[in-house]
Amino acid sequence: MDKLSNYDFVLLDDDELLLKLEKQFLKKLGATNVYTYQSVKELTPEFQLHNTQNTILLCDLKLPDIDGVELIRQLAQQQFQGYIVIVSGTEHRIIDSVVTMAKGLHLKVLGGMQKPIHFPSFSKILQKLQYKEQQEVVRTPYKIDEKKLRTAINNEDIFLVYQPKVRVENAKFVGAEVLARWQHAEYGVIPPLIFIELAEKHGLISDLTYYILNKTFQQLAKWQQHNLLVPVSVNISEADLQYIDLPEHIMTLSHRYDIDPSLITLEITESCLIGDVPQRLEVISRLRLRNIGLSIDDFGTGYSSLEKLRNIPFTELKIDKSFIQYVNSSKDDYNIVKANIELAKVLGLQTVAEGVEEKEQIAILKELGCDIIQGYYYSKPLPADEFEVWLRKHLAIKN
Ligand code: C2E
Ligand code: CA
Ligand code: CA
Repeated sequence: MDKLSNYDFVLLDDDELLLKLEKQFLKKLGATNVYTYQSVKELTPEFQLHNTQNTILLCDLKLPDIDGVELIRQLAQQQFQGYIVIVSGTEHRIIDSVVTMAKGLHLKVLGGMQKPIHFPSFSKILQKLQYKEQQEVVRTPYKIDEKKLRTAINNEDIFLVYQPKVRVENAKFVGAEVLARWQHAEYGVIPPLIFIELAEKHGLISDLTYYILNKTFQQLAKWQQHNLLVPVSVNISEADLQYIDLPEHIMTLSHRYDIDPSLITLEITESCLIGDVPQRLEVISRLRLRNIGLSIDDFGTGYSSLEKLRNIPFTELKIDKSFIQYVNSSKDDYNIVKANIELAKVLGLQTVAEGVEEKEQIAILKELGCDIIQGYYYSKPLPADEFEVWLRKHLAIKN
């Protein structure tokens, strides 16, 4: 994380005592530029001065001259560039919904905090800056189109990174998720959310998926030659399930590269299952008959119904990182994760928690009986050679 002294902190709260406390906490964390305001009226004349990417605004939702929702709306209208932290004495559900609203208005929100504030949760929210800064890359406007993407696929400019998954109870390595990246001459590495959507929109996704599957099998064969058995999960899109020959295609690769198909799991999101379910079920059943694993990804964020969970032969349920992020601070998120793990258990599915970044999250997931974790805490997604180094080191310690 950038040093906090590189940021300007703008504190907006009518409670003078709270302003003092926040200021104290910030100083303790190394912040040097702290400005305090007790009303919007007081802030307004200096607002443009603070409207920079290096500003962090901590604001209350109940101010004497304006309510918090209106304030957020105004910040969006004025295209506030800084980060926002909502600090409020109100119910945490209300804070959460204001946070969601602010994100929906394209404001950069670090999180919400309930009063009375405590130092640990305060410093944790500010630690989020690091990840937020990385996510900002996504906002850069990329001038790419389907033609350029097709060329990138043909030129093999799309490469794969691998993120390890480990067992919660003993940290033993259990496999990796394969994630795609586009190495672009001008933009550097383009994240998948950008080009996967482009591929989906322009009918390129099955070409891209086949390319990724092929690369994955090639890599698994290499690792197999190096005596490394790496079970992998590959993300597939809604359109991929429309191709009746997907299972056969995977079997062909499995024979060509001499890789056991049971090493492969396909991750599909809930939104893959809204369309023509019977036809998709045919593809899915044939995948399962060939021992290919099937994971329901981003669980809880889409349109899942329990009926689908019951009827589709999933082997794994993946809890989305948006629930894991606050599992140790939000009661609602804790309860959602708990319920998901229990549900998975009843259905005989293995559970994977993604986006695990902190030790405390692991402790909670262990207590709740989650099976597998994946996240920056253990490793970021790594290019194949770096992944191999990570894996050998990890195997030497844990297995
Ligand atoms: P996803 O399937 O939910 O993948 C997990 C995302 O979380 C990855 O982002 C991963 O880098 C990120 N992540 C992992 N651990 C942490 C953590 O501890 N903290 C945080 N904040 N993030 C973490 P990535 O690689 O940018 O991928 C984004 C999405 O793009 C994926 O979400 C997936 O839906 C899609 N995607 C990626 N590769 C492929 C692909 O080959 N095919 C398809 N169809 N979709 C892909
Ligand atoms: Ca995934
Ligand atoms: Ca996810």
